[in-house]
Amino acid sequence: MKKDNVNNFRTFWFKYSDYEMVEIDERYYITPKENAKISMYDPFKIADEILVDILMIGRYIEKNDIASSNEKIMQFVKNYGLLGELTYLPINSDIVNQNKVYLPKGNLVSNEEIMSTYDYIELFLKCKKKQKIVMKKNARGEILELSTENEVNPLFAIDRPTEYAVIFSKAYSECLVWIMHYARTLYQTFEAIENYSKLEDAYTKQIYDIRIKNFNPSKIACRVLMGNKKDDVPVLEWNFNSLKLAIDTMFALNETTDRKTVKMCKHCSKPFSSLNLKAEYCSPQCRNQANVYKSRAKNK
Ligand SMILES: [Zn+2]
Repeated sequence: MKKDNVNNFRTFWFKYSDYEMVEIDERYYITPKENAKISMYDPFKIADEILVDILMIGRYIEKNDIASSNEKIMQFVKNYGLLGELTYLPINSDIVNQNKVYLPKGNLVSNEEIMSTYDYIELFLKCKKKQKIVMKKNARGEILELSTENEVNPLFAIDRPTEYAVIFSKAYSECLVWIMHYARTLYQTFEAIENYSKLEDAYTKQIYDIRIKNFNPSKIACRVLMGNKKDDVPVLEWNFNSLKLAIDTMFALNETTDRKTVKMCKHCSKPFSSLNLKAEYCSPQCRNQANVYKSRAKNK
């Protein structure tokens, strides 16, 4: 991401100090631990770390190293929180008031494209043991009451609709495969963009074109906040509906700037970040290896 801009970007997300993986109906879900503490942070302040970490997860999955990917995912949620799929996925917004959710075709969360908001939210409350959420419906299936019993209710601190109280509660969970799918797709897009100029065969080019075209984050909204003091610079505040959308945006900004700080190592193709805009390798080892290959090729 463009470093000279980073201080003028602002958004927020919540994370818990600890998460656990729970198996329910033969699927794995990730949810905050009972005694975990909540805290707020600005993902844009650590954009490069988040991008490298999610891309590394995607790379492990591409290489079929699921043990490393699982380990890295647990570390990821501890560092940055869950992705916020509940608000990322729907095509409509303000879903609690609308009582209906419209979902894109082919998503991993539900087979249905139109659902009642009540049933939809239930998909994210699989780890009900904690009973932190009270959700009641009327005879027509509309939500009558939705409230949380967190020690800290983050909604006091932010101006967001009720569904965010669900995302930031300890009862909220996301399925492991949703996170895996997202990380993998993002890595594939990264690979396609980073390798695009080196492409030689038409078949791979076609695959890369499809991957790049399919990367289509929507619903990005922002506003300009002016500072209170005379010397304050205006700040671009992003109204992200989820951490996932914030990552999409960081990724898009990173891939389209000539001051790219998250790149793919030219030798081992691992994602890495560097403030040195000319850096091409993730480590001195990779740079040396690449130089050895280069001089061997020259001497042939
Ligand atoms: Zn490398």
